[in-house]
Amino acid sequence: MILLVHMIFGAAVGSAVKSMPIAITLALLSHYFLDTLPHIEYSVVNIETRHWRKTLPDILKILLDFCLGFFLILLLSKNQPIIYICAFIAMLPDGFTILNRAIPNKISAAHDKLHEKIHFLKHKKISNFWRFFNQVIIVIISIILLKP
Ligand SMILES: [Zn+2]
Repeated sequence: MILLVHMIFGAAVGSAVKSMPIAITLALLSHYFLDTLPHIEYSVVNIETRHWRKTLPDILKILLDFCLGFFLILLLSKNQPIIYICAFIAMLPDGFTILNRAIPNKISAAHDKLHEKIHFLKHKKISNFWRFFNQVIIVIISIILLKP
């Protein structure tokens, strides 16, 4: 799932849940839950294959995705620190995955294996429309929960 969706849903969790430890825990778990749903992801194949000279488009996609998510949260939320903390926490699993692809180690490799298993609907025959529509619905629900 793209970063924007993870970020805004994590922010919504931070906005809706009053207890900080519970909000942070749920924001982290929300990443894995959302990844179980059928979704579209953009390719970061150059980062994965360590073709460093070709990584600029991949990095720009990630940066644009991140900036758009951040901008939506800035625009639509109560802008409390917990909202940004939860948005950040909700992205962490993908950060660990990218870290593992770039600089592999035992811990991030174990996480990456689990993270990949969670995407169990990835290879199922589900139309791109539904894979896209799922993410739109999650963003709409998140915006509703973020509203001050
Ligand atoms: Zn993920």
